[in-house]
Amino acid sequence: MSNAIQRTELKTFYYTPVHCPFCGTRVMGADPVDETHITACPHTLFIAHDTAFEYRSERFDRNLQLDGLSDQEVEARWQEEADGVDGLTNQVTLADAIKVAAYAPAPSAYGSYYGFAPTE
Ligand SMILES: [Zn+2]
Repeated sequence: MSNAIQRTELKTFYYTPVHCPFCGTRVMGADPVDETHITACPHTLFIAHDTAFEYRSERFDRNLQLDGLSDQEVEARWQEEADGVDGLTNQVTLADAIKVAAYAPAPSAYGSYYGFAPTE
């Protein structure tokens, strides 16, 4: 039985700030001076967009067997073996993991991806 990450998609309100569903931390855009600043809480697995990972937790790396890989090797994984960052992050199998995928409308079709899972 597969235990794939649960996905939520934001398409209309794709710009809505994303908060951790487990503790309420606003993981991106919380700093008014630097809106690209990332605030990863203990539940955050990854924060990424279509061209790069902004944040990867140890749990995420272990789950997808990315630990020990260089950034270039990780990039090769999602470019060559998975269907991009979106496809790679869909492969997470941590219990009760949740992914929020925010897609800006066409023609941009730019995606941002946030992953969370409860801690023990
Ligand atoms: Zn949290």
